[in-house]
Amino acid sequence: MHAQTQKGFYWVGVCLAGGRLTGQQMRAIADLSEKFGEKGKVGIRGTNKQNLIIVNVPEKGVEDLKKGLVAAGLVVEPSNFRKGCVSCTGIEFCNLAVGETKNRMIRMVGELETLCSHYKDQVRIHFSGCPSSCGQHQIADIGFRGATRTVDGVKKECFDMFLGGKTGADARFNVLIQPKVPYEEVHHYIDKVLRAYQAKKSGTETLTRWLGRSSKDDLKSIFADSASTTTV
Ligand code: SF4
Repeated sequence: MHAQTQKGFYWVGVCLAGGRLTGQQMRAIADLSEKFGEKGKVGIRGTNKQNLIIVNVPEKGVEDLKKGLVAAGLVVEPSNFRKGCVSCTGIEFCNLAVGETKNRMIRMVGELETLCSHYKDQVRIHFSGCPSSCGQHQIADIGFRGATRTVDGVKKECFDMFLGGKTGADARFNVLIQPKVPYEEVHHYIDKVLRAYQAKKSGTETLTRWLGRSSKDDLKSIFADSASTTTV
């Protein structure tokens, strides 16, 4: 829960990996907001991270609202991986897509929460299924763009991996560091980046800042042994 500038009121976030939720969950969010939010003032807003926030909740209603959301299968205390992920629609519903994105990203969040439990800082990971870039992969710390590769004559989905995007002051697009990351191995490649950052960062330097000051060759060297990456 987060205090608003209006004294006595709070907003509660609902974190939706990939922006997905069921019809029943939508109804639960509406009912719970009405029940525990301030009459005539409560609101449900979308964020640019594909999440929702419920605003104008009086302090006395916050805990019951959160309990109700959790009972509906929603996440109100997300990991930094869940908070920082964005994905475009991908091949499920988009005719332009080169590959599947949203389901891979949703699965990846769980994989990272286990594999990268060593990492506690913020990270922004965005997926786009093609160069149209609806997932805004260029501004992410770690961006993925749908691609394909041919293995033994068979076409397989994969992602081109970009590192070092930033928004705000000194905004910059990320750069292509590792092409053709196998679809199933995305989380292992991210783990390599996070471990390299933790080993090489200076003091309290953020991932965004470290990626921005690292040379392309240094970032490429993270994947020097990528052939040995485990496929799961
Ligand atoms: S980035 Fe490409 S695949 Fe994704 S929604 Fe946009 S057009 Fe479709």
